[in-house]
Amino acid sequence: SALSEAKRWPVHVEVRLKSRASARFDTIRKHVQTFVASHDRLGIPSVLEGWQDLPELAASVEIINICETPCTKQSLSRAEMMLHVHVYQPSDGDSFEEFATGTGNGSEDDDTMAASVCELPNRSWEGLWNSLIYAGDIKLKLLDYIHATLLLSDAGVDFNLVSWNRVVLLHGPPGTGKTSLCRALAQKLSIRLSHRYSHARLLEINSHSLFSKWFSESGKLVQRLFNSINELIEEEDGFVVVLIDEVESLTAARAGAMAGTEPSDGLRVVNALLTQLDKLKHRKNVLIMSTSNLVNAIDSAFVDRADIVQFIDLPTREAIYEVLRSCLCEVIAKGVVAPAKIPTLKQAQMFEVVTKAGDDHTCKTEDPHEKQKYLGLRVLKLATQCRSQQMSGRALRRLPVLALARYLGMGSTAQTSETGTNGSATGVADIDI
Ligand code: ADP
Repeated sequence: SALSEAKRWPVHVEVRLKSRASARFDTIRKHVQTFVASHDRLGIPSVLEGWQDLPELAASVEIINICETPCTKQSLSRAEMMLHVHVYQPSDGDSFEEFATGTGNGSEDDDTMAASVCELPNRSWEGLWNSLIYAGDIKLKLLDYIHATLLLSDAGVDFNLVSWNRVVLLHGPPGTGKTSLCRALAQKLSIRLSHRYSHARLLEINSHSLFSKWFSESGKLVQRLFNSINELIEEEDGFVVVLIDEVESLTAARAGAMAGTEPSDGLRVVNALLTQLDKLKHRKNVLIMSTSNLVNAIDSAFVDRADIVQFIDLPTREAIYEVLRSCLCEVIAKGVVAPAKIPTLKQAQMFEVVTKAGDDHTCKTEDPHEKQKYLGLRVLKLATQCRSQQMSGRALRRLPVLALARYLGMGSTAQTSETGTNGSATGVADIDI
């Protein structure tokens, strides 16, 4: 229809520069815009190629990523896209700095490492966003939320009429990628908002040390920590993401105090935290992200302040397939396992449809198509097993290590050259839970 033809999808193009590149960002942006415009269609998402032949880009650029969109099409034509090109140069991974909140009276002992700060975008978090796989569009939904708050802030909406707290809470079983998702989102935001903020920082609060180490001091620690946060956000051209991990350890105390089971120190800490959070909501350039394994243990006053309370569940069979596939592709790419083509989830599901139930998925031929089909069905079967064992994303990413250890334990070597002609199948076949 005419309406759907008129629809243009925002397509974000992220251009990562080399560490030592000194080119101007806006020059690179113009070159990339011209280069992208020379394509009739772009794969969504995809890694752009071909720019390596252009000297002005080759000298400075490391990678160009065309990011995912809410659109389900695998590629878009030029007319269907509204391009947003973001150029960034990540800081090196070691730019972390411990953030002491000691009393400042010179004694080292009372410096509690309650938080750490890193510059964003950071090399440590490169690739994290893409490595996290969820059913549904959780990641894009979170990004959209931030965009919505920015739009409203820019429009100068009256906070008495429309208000939000800039607090996001992710909860769910351990190992489902909640902390990683917060970091990945912070990284994404720093790239996407670079035209607005000249720099960005991620401040990670260690709830345990903040709360338990110096129990009676904790109220003061929260105060001091937020003083430091306030200093950071004073710089209005800087964006600050505050990550409060395992927030239940901070806020369970108040419930305990009310029930008369906890000393009042706990109550003071939580009250201090909530008061400070309330003060931050008027600041444009800050976002609070928190995670919890036990949502029921969190103070309801905290949950109430979260604009988004997102449940992050254990991965579905389909998500597990994608995680396992990414693990396998990596060990193949690094030469630990002999080369093999692991089918995409869609391909594997097609193989499954055309394969009769009860077929023993053995691969007797060297035919590449048969081999791919065999691998796809094997990994799907493994995904089903992992799902029935309720494995978390963290447990899945560990599987290759366990599989390789078992393989080595069987007296084989991990050398691809010695795995023989059947090497690829052996590498996969050994991954068994
Ligand atoms: P949580 O904070 O929920 O305990 P983490 O963020 O510490 O989980 O996750 C640990 C690691 O597990 C991640 O860095 C990632 O490698 C892996 N992981 C967890 N969930 C997923 C997922 N949904 N997709 C891909 N990898 C995942």
